[in-house]
Amino acid sequence: MSLPPVVVLATRNAKKQAELQRILTAHGIATEVRSLADFPHYIDDVVESAPDFEGNALLKATAAFEALGLPSIADDSGLCVDALNGMPGVLSARWAGTRDDEDNVNLVLAQLRDVPNERRGAQFVAAVAYVADNAVTLVVRGVMAGRIGRTPSGSEGFGYDPIFIADGQSATNAELSPVEKDALSHRGRALTTLVERLSRM
Ligand code: IMP
Repeated sequence: MSLPPVVVLATRNAKKQAELQRILTAHGIATEVRSLADFPHYIDDVVESAPDFEGNALLKATAAFEALGLPSIADDSGLCVDALNGMPGVLSARWAGTRDDEDNVNLVLAQLRDVPNERRGAQFVAAVAYVADNAVTLVVRGVMAGRIGRTPSGSEGFGYDPIFIADGQSATNAELSPVEKDALSHRGRALTTLVERLSRM
């Protein structure tokens, strides 16, 4: 199965749309990526109630496909900290209860205050789901492994980037340029795997 001429990425984030378009182009695929901004009548009110990233990505892609009738892709991502048994996980955006990045960062740092350096491992995880009809559903995962630092540093990126140091790096994600972070990104890895799997089907 080759990719369809048009896919919807179930987000209003223009950067995510551009990232998927770049990955498709890099694979020589002419599919046009639309985002929910192209469908103003569609109300994206999916409750992310699944216990894992894959389930939430599938909920969002299925809702977009059912409402818009076009092959749809959705992602769900977060930070999984080893010493917190994989949390914040699917609760990453609202870990501190305020949906504020700085509050989330400070809470994770406080929770890890007494955790020694050798047990501060963590991963950013992204799941990406593709739903084209009831028979064609695919969900894949991408991971960026690293560790949690002791103090926030850097002003690039978003979310937990100021306290996450990817494997092989000495700087936090928020100190990397967008291009450097893109090359390591969990979302980019998941999208690349999806595009490669779909183009092989
Ligand atoms: P979303 O799935 O892109 O909405 O991300 C959910 C939450 O996970 C975000 O609000 C961030 O707290 C966290 N997160 C996901 N990806 C990243 C990343 O690349 N850097 C920092 N935080 C991230």
